[in-house]
Amino acid sequence: MPDDTTLRALLLTRDGDHVQHDHVTLPVTDLPDGDVLVAVEYSSLNYKDGLAVLGRPGVVRTYPMVPGIDLVGEVVESESARWRRGDRVILTGWGVGERHWGGLATLARVRSDWLVALPDSLTSLRAMTLGTAGLTAMLCVMALEERGLVPGTGEVVVTGAAGGVGSVAVALLAGAGHAVTASTGRPEEEGYLRSLGASNVIHRDELTGLKRPLEKERWAGAVDTVGSTTLAGVLASLKRWGSVAACGLAGGSDLPATVLPFILRGVNLLGVDSVEVPIERRERAWTRLARDLPHDLLDAMVRVVPLGEVPAEAERILRGEVRGRTVVDVRA
Ligand code: NDP
Repeated sequence: MPDDTTLRALLLTRDGDHVQHDHVTLPVTDLPDGDVLVAVEYSSLNYKDGLAVLGRPGVVRTYPMVPGIDLVGEVVESESARWRRGDRVILTGWGVGERHWGGLATLARVRSDWLVALPDSLTSLRAMTLGTAGLTAMLCVMALEERGLVPGTGEVVVTGAAGGVGSVAVALLAGAGHAVTASTGRPEEEGYLRSLGASNVIHRDELTGLKRPLEKERWAGAVDTVGSTTLAGVLASLKRWGSVAACGLAGGSDLPATVLPFILRGVNLLGVDSVEVPIERRERAWTRLARDLPHDLLDAMVRVVPLGEVPAEAERILRGEVRGRTVVDVRA
């Protein structure tokens, strides 16, 4: 086991256009600046981590880099009055794993104002089962609620539903009393999606097949993790005054849509960014996640893998093959 003077990490280095990943042991003095040192228990594998680990452009800003955009663990050292040795903390976003060394390591040195306290009712494993994906799903739900979405107003569709953000969004919305339609490219996951609370499951082609600027009004609200023609189809089929919280681009970053749903039906396109979201909103989101999501549903959506399996898992998540969430036990 590493002590407080060394760490084990997945390290990305770049040589020209080639990005290499290696498992390394480093002295703790190699860690970047920060006022809190965290002994990491778990990180997780998000779509963005898949891109980073496999060297796809647009995520990692500087090399060498320890990827991992989220982590949970215990404070080992703190120069901040906010945190003390032994405190349990969660970190997501803020450019960690992109510009600042991240969670796929046994130790991380980070900024104290990036951290959220681990809620008492969550184990560290369940906190990372949520991770960036869970926080993002909660922020999507909060955005929809703030635009007036209440249970009983109609179906709410979640796209990319069998993925990480999608799975948590389905469970959160169903738990809040919404009639949830899960849109997936994997019909074989229907049983899983219904177990999370979806009352209806549709094939993703139903949404991408909606080509007219205004289609039949169907959704009271939507969480979209896919973008592109899927988001265009959602916009065209939202009910009057309905909203879609758009957080992802698993199907593409383009948006081949028209303004007609906005100007003729008053629909809302709500952007959701979990990376820079202010700390007060994060804390509110984590409090709700800890309170509202049944733990058995969380346990049903997670697979735990050791650090050594991260590159293979990165391939799988970019191929759209991962169901729910993948947590990385960095100590294994
Ligand atoms: P996952 O890979 O776990 O989920 C993405 C899902 O999208 C897949 O499971 C699949 O669902 C669907 N999908 C994959 N490829 C395609 C495709 N080519 N066309 C249509 N659907 C596809 O990723 P995450 O849940 O971690 O992230 C989802 C998206 O949200 C990503 O784009 C990610 O970058 C983004 N994100 C954004 C955040 C923010 O702050 N805005 C934070 C976290 C994530 P199915 O099989 O059910 O169709």
